[in-house]
Amino acid sequence: MNGEHKITGGHRARTALVYLRQSTLVQVREHTESTMRQYALADTAVSLGWAPRDVEVIDRDLGLSGTSAAHRQGFRDLMSRVCLGEAGAVFGLEISRLGRSNADLARLAEMARLTDTLLIDSDGVYDLSDFNDWLVLGLKSTMSQAELHIMAGRLQAARRAAAERGELRAPLPVGLACDADGTVVTDPDAEVRAAVADIFACFFAAGSAYGVVAAFAGRKFPQRAYGGVWAGQLRWAPLTHHRVLQVLKNPAYAGAYVHGRHVTRKKVDADGNVRTVTAELPRAQWPVLIKDHHPGYLSWEEYLAIEARLAANHTAGGARPVREGTALCQGIIICGGCGGPMAANYHGDDRASYECHSHRDGKKTPGCRSIMAHAVDDAVAAALLDALTPEQVGLALAAAGEVTSRHQRVSRAAGLAVERARYEADRAERAFSQVEPENRLVARTLEARWEARLAALADAEQALQAARDALPPLPDRASLEKLAADLPALWHAPTTTARDRKRLLRALIADVTLLPEADRHKARIGIRWHTGAADQLVIDRPKPTGIPAPTPSPATELIRRLGPVTGNDALVTILSQHGYLTGAGRPFDIKAIQWVRRAYHIPGPSAYGSGEISVNEAAQRLGCSPGVVYYWIETGQLDARRSPGGRLCIPWTPATDADCRARITSSGHLNPAARRTRPRQHRWVRP
Ligand SMILES: [Zn+2]
Repeated sequence: MNGEHKITGGHRARTALVYLRQSTLVQVREHTESTMRQYALADTAVSLGWAPRDVEVIDRDLGLSGTSAAHRQGFRDLMSRVCLGEAGAVFGLEISRLGRSNADLARLAEMARLTDTLLIDSDGVYDLSDFNDWLVLGLKSTMSQAELHIMAGRLQAARRAAAERGELRAPLPVGLACDADGTVVTDPDAEVRAAVADIFACFFAAGSAYGVVAAFAGRKFPQRAYGGVWAGQLRWAPLTHHRVLQVLKNPAYAGAYVHGRHVTRKKVDADGNVRTVTAELPRAQWPVLIKDHHPGYLSWEEYLAIEARLAANHTAGGARPVREGTALCQGIIICGGCGGPMAANYHGDDRASYECHSHRDGKKTPGCRSIMAHAVDDAVAAALLDALTPEQVGLALAAAGEVTSRHQRVSRAAGLAVERARYEADRAERAFSQVEPENRLVARTLEARWEARLAALADAEQALQAARDALPPLPDRASLEKLAADLPALWHAPTTTARDRKRLLRALIADVTLLPEADRHKARIGIRWHTGAADQLVIDRPKPTGIPAPTPSPATELIRRLGPVTGNDALVTILSQHGYLTGAGRPFDIKAIQWVRRAYHIPGPSAYGSGEISVNEAAQRLGCSPGVVYYWIETGQLDARRSPGGRLCIPWTPATDADCRARITSSGHLNPAARRTRPRQHRWVRP
C-alpha cells in the first residue's frame, strides 16, 4: 500500500478503527458490493500488521445520510476515540468522503494530527503531521464537495427540464392512474371515480370541506398506499377533513401538471438539530404549471372557484361559511363603524340581532351599532329578489337539477358498493370451487372467506335499500316549473332552508355593511354585489318590542282624570264611547288600560269601603305577620269580604281589634311569653 512505511509500532499498538458509512437504506440494500468492500477494510488492517482483536468496526451509521453529522452516532464515537488517542489509525473506503461536510473532515484531520492518528483508505496512508498529506487530504475533501455540488446541480437541472415538459413522474393521487403507455388517465375503477367526483360535487353543494365530510358520513373513501408492503394497493377508509382539503387543493384533479407545489426547507431547532420541513407554495409561485395535461374531474375554472371558496371559508378573515341560523346576512355583515365583522346573536324564539364584535374586544367605536336581524334581512332579501328577476327561471331550474343529481349520487355510490361486494363474493366462490377436495384446511378457510363476502354483500344491498328509502320523494317537474316562475314564493317557501337562502344570497352579494347613520331611528345598509356594484338602502329601525306605541294624549288625559276613581271595566266602556283607540289602532281593553296606568303611574280606585282595611294593614296594627291574618280569615275566626278586584277587605272595629289581640296573647305559638308560663305536660311516664 502507498505510504505503508508511515505505519509504526506505536500505531499498531493502538486500535485500528474501521468506519463504515452508506448514505441511504436503499444504498445499503442495493449496493451490497460497496458494503462488502467496506467490511473488507478490517482484513486490510490485519494485513498491515494490526492484531485481529485490535481491529474495531464502527458501522452504526450505515443507512444514515452523511450530509450532516448531527444524527450520526458512529461518527461522533469515532471522533471521541480519536480525541482520546485510543486509535492508531482510522480506515475508510474513501477518507475524503468520511464526513459529507468539509467541517466534519477538517475536525477529524485536526484531531488526528494532534493525537498522531493515521487516516488510511484505498489510495494510501495519510499522516496528518506531514504537510503534504494534510494538503492532499484537504484538496480531496474540497474536490469531493465540489463533485457533490455539481452532481446535485445536474440532477436537479435534469429533473427540472423533465418537469417543464410534464414528463417527470410523481405519485398520482387516488382517482388518477397511469395506463400501460405511461399516460395519465382517470382510474378505471368506477367506484373510485365516483367517490372522487362526489367530493367535488358535495363541495359545490355544501360549500365547505366539513360539509363534504358530513355528506360522506358512513361512506368510505379510497386511498392509494405508497411504499411499504401495501404499495399500490387501494384501501378504503373514513373520509377526514384533512383528506378532503388534500383532494380539493390538488391541481392534478383539474387535469393540470404541477411541479414544485411543495418545497422543503432546512430549519435549525432550539437544540441545534437541523430539521427538514415541507411547506406549500402559493399558486403564483409554482415553478411548473401545465394546464390540460391529462383528463381530470373538474375544469381549471372550477379549481380556481374551489380555491376562492376555501380562502373565503378561512375563518381568520373575510366571509364565514353559512350556518343553520335564520339570520340571513350571518357571516357577511360588517360594522361600518369599526370595519370589523358583526356576529349574529340569537335571543330565544329565533329572534336574532347583528352585533359588532368589538364589544368583546374593547375596540368599540362611537359608530358601532347593533340591529335586529330581520330589519336588515328583509331589506337585503327584497333587494336580492329585485335583482334576480331576469334570471328567475334559469336559477330555479338549476336548483332543481342539483337536487335531482344529489339524489342520484347517493344511491349511485351505494349501488357501486353492491357491485363491488357482489364481484368479491363471486371471486371467493370461484376460489372455493377450484380448490382440490383433499386440501381440507384450505377449503375451510376459503369457505369462511366466501361466507364473509356473502355477508358483506347482504350488508351492501341493505345499505343501498336504506339509502333509497331515506331519500325524500322528488317534487314533480310541473310543480318545480310553477315554483320557478315565482322565485319570491320559492324564496319564502317553508321547504327552503335558511342555509339555501344564504347560499343564494352569497351567490350574488359579496357583503353587507351597517353604515353609520345620524338619525337614530333609521339604519343605513350598504350592499356590495359580486359584480362590483354597490347599493345603499335606508330603513326604519324596528321599534323595541315590549313597549307599546305611545297612546294619543286625549285618551291618556281621560284615564289620568277618571282612573283614580273608576275601575278598569268602566274605563273600557267610557273610552269606547268616546271612540278612542290605542297607539296600535286597536280599541282599548283591560290590558291596554293597565299598560297606561303603569306607564303614567295612575292609581286605581280604592277597593275598600269605609272602616275596612287590608290584610297587610291589619297585620301591621297587630304586630304579627300577614300569614296569621290570612289563617284567621281562612278558618273563619275573622270576617272579611272579597272586592270585585279580588282583594280581601276586613271590616275593622274596636271589638275586632280587641278579639285579635286576645287571640295573640293566649297563643303559645304567637306569644312565647304565654308558652313559658304554661305547665309542662308529660305524656310518657316511666313505669
Ligand atoms: Zn364596530
